[in-house]
Amino acid sequence: MSQAKQQRVITFHYTLTDTEGQTLDSSRDAEPLSFMEGMGQIIPGLENILATLQKGDKKVVTIVSKEAYGERNEQLVVEVERAKLPKGDLQVGDQFQTEDPHSPPFTVVDVTETHAMLDANHPLAGMDLTFDVEITEVREATDEEKSHGHAHGPGGHHH
Ligand code: ZN
Repeated sequence: MSQAKQQRVITFHYTLTDTEGQTLDSSRDAEPLSFMEGMGQIIPGLENILATLQKGDKKVVTIVSKEAYGERNEQLVVEVERAKLPKGDLQVGDQFQTEDPHSPPFTVVDVTETHAMLDANHPLAGMDLTFDVEITEVREATDEEKSHGHAHGPGGHHH
């Protein structure tokens, strides 16, 4: 990575809704989110839009699923014996991480006496997402942030 490359930290508030207008997530009742550009820390469709905005700008954008969390892959839905799972008391909606930290968490989508159906798709895969965003800060990343590869401070990474 070149040292001359300008890299910004963008801080923004967002409200995320699905195509029916149901709110899925929001930063509005907490601190805004900070991310460093070019690091794949937020979905690509949203990063492309935010990169064009200035501090104080507000925008409502809809990101299609392939620019958001991708399409669903039904191959990632698997049935396993409950005896092989670490947790005895499974409920639909439970999530757990596999031993591989890079694989997405599984969500339990069905439970029977003996088996559980696990879905490793991102919960928002296959969905078009609408973001109502407000940029609260745009600044150059510090050298320390650049070396760590993430934003520090409120809304960013806390060490
Ligand atoms: Zn750091």
